[in-house]
Amino acid sequence: MSATPLVQIQGLQPRAVPAVSDGQLVDSFGRVMGDLRISVTDRCNFRCVYCMPEEGLQWLNRESLLTFDEIERLARLFVAQGVHEIRLTGGEPTLRPGLPDLVARLAKIPGITSLSLTTNGFMLKNLARPLAEAGLTRINVSLDTLDHERFHQITRRPWLKQVLEGLAELERYPSIRPIKINAVAMRHWSETEAVPLALLAREKGYIVRFIEFMPLDADGNWEHERVLTGREIKAILEREIMPLVPIPTEKSSTSRRYRFADGVGEIGFINPVSEPFCASCNRLRLTADGQLRTCLFSIDEWDLRTPLRSGITDEQLLELVRDAVWHKELKHKINEGEAFQRASRSMSQIGG
Ligand code: SAM
Ligand code: SF4
Repeated sequence: MSATPLVQIQGLQPRAVPAVSDGQLVDSFGRVMGDLRISVTDRCNFRCVYCMPEEGLQWLNRESLLTFDEIERLARLFVAQGVHEIRLTGGEPTLRPGLPDLVARLAKIPGITSLSLTTNGFMLKNLARPLAEAGLTRINVSLDTLDHERFHQITRRPWLKQVLEGLAELERYPSIRPIKINAVAMRHWSETEAVPLALLAREKGYIVRFIEFMPLDADGNWEHERVLTGREIKAILEREIMPLVPIPTEKSSTSRRYRFADGVGEIGFINPVSEPFCASCNRLRLTADGQLRTCLFSIDEWDLRTPLRSGITDEQLLELVRDAVWHKELKHKINEGEAFQRASRSMSQIGG
């Protein structure tokens, strides 16, 4: 693979020489990796318009999915190199049979400070308890509206009731906190959904986060004009509810956090399009079929599954991972017109 062009962006200095093993995974711009997203399946029971096509999308065959043994081996390797946050995702991760068993295995790895799940919530009524017992510590539930009809339109499934029941079940397990709600923000859509979702945050203590629509939809319908920015949603909430006061965040945080001025209800804005946070990105992604991606928008992937299944040693595996991390992309080019190339897979196939 050719080296990433060493173009500087704010706060990032290209480094000439790869960092040699110091228990960390560092890229050529000095960013230290701390967060690994592991996709456990590319399948999904929803068909959200901003993510999947209405029909079609070839599923991976079962043999190509990493086994729990393979996932655990890789997770241990990454954690030994300083990765401390692991998030399970998909597709819809709760569709992977035995998910709580995988959570239990990962929860035993020393050094993980956050073991979380991103889910559409449909299966939580049955799975909240086994996931809590297995040691899950955090959760993000994707929910774009509290209106049944609109939910059906956006997910192409009439299942808001099940998601709300799942959330209610989740509340019974205080070891999984905070409960975060992720809503994708799209123009001509989310303007009316923002206030009800923010009121949910105030009422339930969930952290509601608005994520700008990114060009990762399988249909390829994304347009710049369809991005409703975090700034615009913040203005709606401040006009309709009350001012929002910033909460200080860690450097690597992708979310701009706010609390309503009366102290009730936390809102987050994840603004990858209008305010890219590539300079502090510390994330890696492992697809369900064992390909390491160093950016959501990667064109190239690093195959870990083939060597894993060919008897590679941990030292060799680590060398491969270091090489991949070293080539982590400088930044996405969503705002650079012709220079932007769509990622090699869509969101549900990557693991958001
Ligand atoms: N199925 C699970 C879920 O929906 O939470 C996990 C996988 S989903 C791909 C992960 C997250 O990506 C969800 O919060 C979803 O809303 C978000 N997402 C999907 N497509 C997106 C897009 N085009 N732009 C921004 N976020 C997107
Ligand atoms: Fe499925 Fe999640 Fe994509 Fe919706 S966002 S289609 S629930 S993978």
